[in-house]
Amino acid sequence: MERVFNFNPGPATLPLEVLMEVQSELLDFHGSGMSVMEISHRSKDFEAIIGEAESSMKELIGGADDYRVLFLGGGASTQFAAVPLNLVPAGREADYILTGSFAEKAYEEAAKLVKANIAANTKADRHNRIPKAAELQLSANPVYVHLCSNNTICGTQWQSFPELKGIPLVADMSSDIFSRGFDIQKFSLIYAGAQKNLGPSGVTLVIIRKELLEQVNKNIPTMLRYDIHAKNDSMYNTPPCFSIYIVNLILRWLKNNGGLPAMEKRNREKAALIYDAIDGSGGFYKGHALLEDRSLMNVTYRLPSEDLEKAFVAEAKQQALIGLNGHRSVGGIRASIYNAMTLEGCKALAEFMKEFQSKNG
Ligand SMILES: *Cc1c(COP(=O)(O)O)cnc(C)c1O
Repeated sequence: MERVFNFNPGPATLPLEVLMEVQSELLDFHGSGMSVMEISHRSKDFEAIIGEAESSMKELIGGADDYRVLFLGGGASTQFAAVPLNLVPAGREADYILTGSFAEKAYEEAAKLVKANIAANTKADRHNRIPKAAELQLSANPVYVHLCSNNTICGTQWQSFPELKGIPLVADMSSDIFSRGFDIQKFSLIYAGAQKNLGPSGVTLVIIRKELLEQVNKNIPTMLRYDIHAKNDSMYNTPPCFSIYIVNLILRWLKNNGGLPAMEKRNREKAALIYDAIDGSGGFYKGHALLEDRSLMNVTYRLPSEDLEKAFVAEAKQQALIGLNGHRSVGGIRASIYNAMTLEGCKALAEFMKEFQSKNG
């Protein structure tokens, strides 16, 4: 078996132990004589999976008793519409902080559906930074402030979240959920597609404060209603069962590996290896993000020319380092190093960077 080091931005690398576990029980799930893909979502077996996933999540987060976790279809992109449709009552407004492409998309979708205000926008700086608290221009009485905790494409990340004096905070955590500890009580709603840090594509998590469920708008499409999904334990319709099953195994893996504090420590070590290779290159590699706003999940940088960037990606691939090309909107290189990327993978990339520079610098 030849596994590569997979730096793809999503779907992304998964822990080998989990893949092997999936393989070992693929044909006969816990003596049922069926694959987990073939059992009913109304069966005891599946209820146990989705129940364990919700409680593991709360255990990992800590202090999340007044929240529900929903497992939904449609990707994080569906939440761009679901959040404003559920939460913004007629005549009210929501605020958006634009720090990258996904935050822009969330805003654009909201603006089609409700009144939406741009509280800050870093586009003029090619989204290479996170705005300072003093830059935020909130509307008079926003229903919530929306931010994207990690900007997958440009490689910036909120290091701490703004103090909003009681205004509910909503976060798209698709690309850094469970990569570090965080205080759930700061958030009214968090959503995340699973395919970066938590499992395969197909399932999206929504972590919502219970009291909000009573206030959501009822005159919206049923499949978007958080209260309906919560009342039905995410089984109003057939949920993405196989994806949820894998997310559950990943959550066990997270718990067995020391939970969020251990993940954060490991993620900091991993990112430092690559950022050190950038910073020690004497300008051969140039990071996109400002130092203080650098992401631990997506490391973005440029080489002196596009030809060298092409050669870098091609030669890296020959050394089993794959998925390193930057997003078309930013260019350059992007190494996505989510929870399941190993320290060994990051070491291999840092070594390769030094070797490539010594040949081409
Ligand atoms: C990948 C990503 C999305 C889009 O997720 P889908 O599940 O493909 O809709 C949204 N937001 C962020 C921050 C992402 O990284």
